[in-house]
Amino acid sequence: MRTENTFSETKKLILKIGKIYNIPKDELESVIQPNRVVEVSLPIQVNGKTKIFLGYRAQHNNKLGPYKGGIRFHEQVNKDEVMALSLLMTLKTALTGIPFGGGKGGIAVNPKDLSESELENLSREYVRSLFDVIGPNKDIPAPDVNTNPKILNWMVEEYIKRAKVEKNVLSLEKLYGAFTGKSRNSHGLDGREEATGYGGAVILESLTKYLGKNTSDMRVAIQGFGNVGYYFAKFATKLGFIVVAVSDSKGAITSNNSTFKNSLDIEKIFACKLEKGALAGCYCAGGVCDINEGTVLSNDELLTLPVDILVPSALGNVITEKNMRKIQAKIIIEMANGPITPQAHEYLSKRGVIIIPDILANAAGVSCSYLEWRQNIEEIKYQKEEVFSELQNIMRKAFKNVWNEANEKKLDLRSASYGIALKKLVP
Ligand code: NAD
Repeated sequence: MRTENTFSETKKLILKIGKIYNIPKDELESVIQPNRVVEVSLPIQVNGKTKIFLGYRAQHNNKLGPYKGGIRFHEQVNKDEVMALSLLMTLKTALTGIPFGGGKGGIAVNPKDLSESELENLSREYVRSLFDVIGPNKDIPAPDVNTNPKILNWMVEEYIKRAKVEKNVLSLEKLYGAFTGKSRNSHGLDGREEATGYGGAVILESLTKYLGKNTSDMRVAIQGFGNVGYYFAKFATKLGFIVVAVSDSKGAITSNNSTFKNSLDIEKIFACKLEKGALAGCYCAGGVCDINEGTVLSNDELLTLPVDILVPSALGNVITEKNMRKIQAKIIIEMANGPITPQAHEYLSKRGVIIIPDILANAAGVSCSYLEWRQNIEEIKYQKEEVFSELQNIMRKAFKNVWNEANEKKLDLRSASYGIALKKLVP
């Protein structure tokens, strides 16, 4: 896995945007540098032998609230990566106006190499090692690449076990606020699963209104059909957008109808993917097409389809110098983190393509984490409808602020998003 956004690239961008906003360089530097990066050695038993894994937690900035950000389990997790991702979290939380700072953590491990009990031991050891620096009012980790509610449940259990030994004064429910992304039956939040995709669709709807267009005139291609891509597709079709192509790691499918008049049947495709394991098989398996009028495409072909809106929802760095000239969409919404390289971003922006930046587009994930944390801290229970309504407000407000800032200062949406965040973060 490539680092989605290296620390130095983000730093360069912040310095450039800070100049536009006349923010002194020393003040920008103080926003860029993480407060601290904690590195821990995690010894666990693997196949009867002690093996040591390296763990990290970058606590980037807590000016606006406790550090907040995911924990990823991946062989290539390293200090530079967690620092870069924690900086983006600081910008994202500042931009959306939720009272959190930025953090990110991880363990350099391939979770597939471990048994379930070894993975559980490793997750619990990570929490034991970081216990003193995390907590509901200090630093609140969440899931990220290769971590999920089950892992977060182990982590919060371990945290609570230790907090009880330490005679922590917080109530049990409040202690659950030490982690978000827990399962619903372990004090998690209804609606978390759908949140990021839903938030992206809300942003896209707002943009469409501001542009004076109808959703039913907008054709959409989505790369990635996982948590983010599937729910984005589901809510975008509900809002009237015409979703004409979707893809997963094995390939893309689109309608044979070259006019792209009708949306794909997202629920049917989702059920088919569950059954067959891949999207491409959902049109033609063994020469038999299951769903009418489908065509199988490569992921590269999906990116260059003649659509209005492109939604990269899988990986970083998929729109690059190599394919940027072939992109036909006039709007790109970065649901994945860092899907467009800086060179491609510059080229496409100059060509007038509207790019909704990742720190805005996928911010509903962390906004939902905020609601989960509040649910635990305030000892209340949110219903799913309330979660969606709160998310809608947060995302619409964030989009409006960015749109107005961009128009007022004649900036692209990414520069305006960074500008808004930086103004809140400088000393
Ligand atoms: P996921 O693992 O659920 O889904 C990823 C999808 O991408 C899968 O459908 C997979 O088949 C597909 N994919 C993998 N390689 C591909 C390739 N080469 N071409 C096309 N598709 C490919 O992950 P997710 O949670 O949906 O996250 C997707 C992106 O969104 C990531 O960049 C993640 O960092 C970002 N993100 C996710 C959340 C969240 O709440 N899940 C929040 C913020 C940002």
